[in-house]
Amino acid sequence: MLNIILFGPPGAGKGTQSEKIIGKYGLTHISTGDLFRKHLSEGTPLGKEAQRYMDQGNLVPDKVVIGMVDQFLKEHQDAEGFLFDGFPRTVAQAQALDALMEQKDMHIAVMIALEVDHQELVKRLQLRGETSGRSDDQHIDKIENRIQVYHRETLPVATYYEKQDKLEKVNGVGSIEEIFSSISNVIEKHV
Ligand code: AMP
Repeated sequence: MLNIILFGPPGAGKGTQSEKIIGKYGLTHISTGDLFRKHLSEGTPLGKEAQRYMDQGNLVPDKVVIGMVDQFLKEHQDAEGFLFDGFPRTVAQAQALDALMEQKDMHIAVMIALEVDHQELVKRLQLRGETSGRSDDQHIDKIENRIQVYHRETLPVATYYEKQDKLEKVNGVGSIEEIFSSISNVIEKHV
């Protein structure tokens, strides 16, 4: 079983690369952002709770996120492996994920961190905002806040996995195929 975390700031290309990774390696994709947007569109209580954080580009509280991930793992017990996208985003979430994995006799093989400079991130998110319909992509202040939140709350998660010798950095600027090829090279070391 292969479990991978795809890590990086908003706009790094995690969603695009996730699609390619799951296609090639037969992994089950879990994007906490996508799950929240699904709850939102279905108007569930969880969606309503998450909305006020998402609208401002802030993180949804750890307890809510971890509960949702736990539920997802329970519902996909026959998965060949998971690709975590946009999770964990805090050290508390990373610790909770390690505990969940241990309970299920699973482990994280590698964290692949996509690196993209600030100016490029803002450019990509603004461009995406023209078509994504995502309110958090529409305003420059929300975009900047999400990047700030990433630096403040999420970046320490990379250090957490680096200490476990599981961090692999990949250049996230280039063509989709070039980046996917770099990611595949990292994954090949773990299959
Ligand atoms: P994303 O699609 O990954 O950019 O996530 C969109 C929004 O959903 C984020 O700005 C957060 O408000 C929320 N969100 C997604 N994943 C998480 C997470 N792991 N922890 C906290 N909030 C999250």
